[in-house]
Amino acid sequence: MVMRAFVFGGKHNCSLQSVPVPTINSDEVLIQVSHCGICGTDIHIDDGEFFCKENLILGHEFSGYVAEVGADVKHLKVGDRVVGDPMTPCFQCTYCQSGQMNYCVELPGIGVNLDGAFAEYIAVPASNVHVIGDNVSMEEAAMAEPLSCAIRGMDLLKCKSGESVVIIGDGTIGLMMVQLCKLAGLAPIVLVGAKPSVAPLATRLGADVFLDGRDENIVERVRAAVGFKQINNVIEAVGAKTTLELSLEVATFGSKILWFGVPSPETRISVVPNEVFTKELMIQGSLMNPHTMTRAVALLNEGRLDLESLITHTFTLEELPEAFECYRNNPERIKVMIKIMR
Ligand SMILES: [Zn+2]
Ligand SMILES: [Zn+2]
Repeated sequence: MVMRAFVFGGKHNCSLQSVPVPTINSDEVLIQVSHCGICGTDIHIDDGEFFCKENLILGHEFSGYVAEVGADVKHLKVGDRVVGDPMTPCFQCTYCQSGQMNYCVELPGIGVNLDGAFAEYIAVPASNVHVIGDNVSMEEAAMAEPLSCAIRGMDLLKCKSGESVVIIGDGTIGLMMVQLCKLAGLAPIVLVGAKPSVAPLATRLGADVFLDGRDENIVERVRAAVGFKQINNVIEAVGAKTTLELSLEVATFGSKILWFGVPSPETRISVVPNEVFTKELMIQGSLMNPHTMTRAVALLNEGRLDLESLITHTFTLEELPEAFECYRNNPERIKVMIKIMR
């Protein structure tokens, strides 16, 4: 049996190909992919900035239906509505042995060094598969993985209810962070974005103030938006030089800064170490989603978040080149989703 798949063949050389439907091991399931979202990581891979094995199928934010179950799989059956966790650690290195799977020497997994979900079918270890509630749509379910990464970031930030937060970035992650901060009781929530058209949606999702980050007095406007009080938390969700620098410029005494956006490995920014010292700034990175997928699924099952509103564009598998183009060049796009099952 053959299927259609979007294969990485080297820098700026991805293409739709006919490939064999994967066969499964006894501890795996075969998933018929329903939806798979485009992630910034996919674009970095296509641009040759991140390592990816050649002739590999991309895509790691997916939902689908179990189509076949390996002999040793206990908790899943054919027809189950599921999402997949792309993290496939080795369970043998010292990081895995100490519970820090996201530092595993063999990571990252599905969609980077194991075949991904921009395909009609994908083989996934059963331990990476989570069943989702019937009330969750398949397109929303495909966003469980980025949500689980955002939950990891929130965990590391250790924010408390009643603290202020400035979120920089009005993309998928920025608007997920708005909702997670709202649920966590943060106040006020200030969103600094680049798409003024998103302001009404951001407000509906929980932002108290939307500011255009391109304003030349943006630092002063952010300070004013929190009443010139302490900014307890800053979340950077873009990964660009200007926004990373802004995250430091808006910081007050005692700010915790989460750098969540994924920068290109070449990105360099200017930091004033004296400010980090005098303000006791904490700068925190966040990598992947160790053990946070079950909580992401719980939030989706209980309907606590609106992720569907973040999907601005949907394309078919055949339209993937156009979808990449849209991700790169459409300033109004938020989440670009690929609908794979017809
Ligand atoms: Zn991703
Ligand atoms: Zn490992």
